[in-house]
Amino acid sequence: MARPARFEQFRWLGDKRSMRVHDADHASEACRIDELMASEQFTCFGPDTLAEARNRGFRPCPHCVTPAEG
Ligand SMILES: [Zn+2]
Repeated sequence: MARPARFEQFRWLGDKRSMRVHDADHASEACRIDELMASEQFTCFGPDTLAEARNRGFRPCPHCVTPAEG
């Protein structure tokens, strides 16, 4: 799946509705990234790390974040 162009600088994408964070490098169809983009209920992180996402209350997406990372 192609990474959304507007997020080409970011790896970690947060869904503010579900409080899940997706790994854009491994996102699958199940992640519904296109739908997330359309909803505009996404956020990105600074620094662009999973640790920062977790600090902000996001939980790893089971579809794209590997257990080792999550
Ligand atoms: Zn995901």
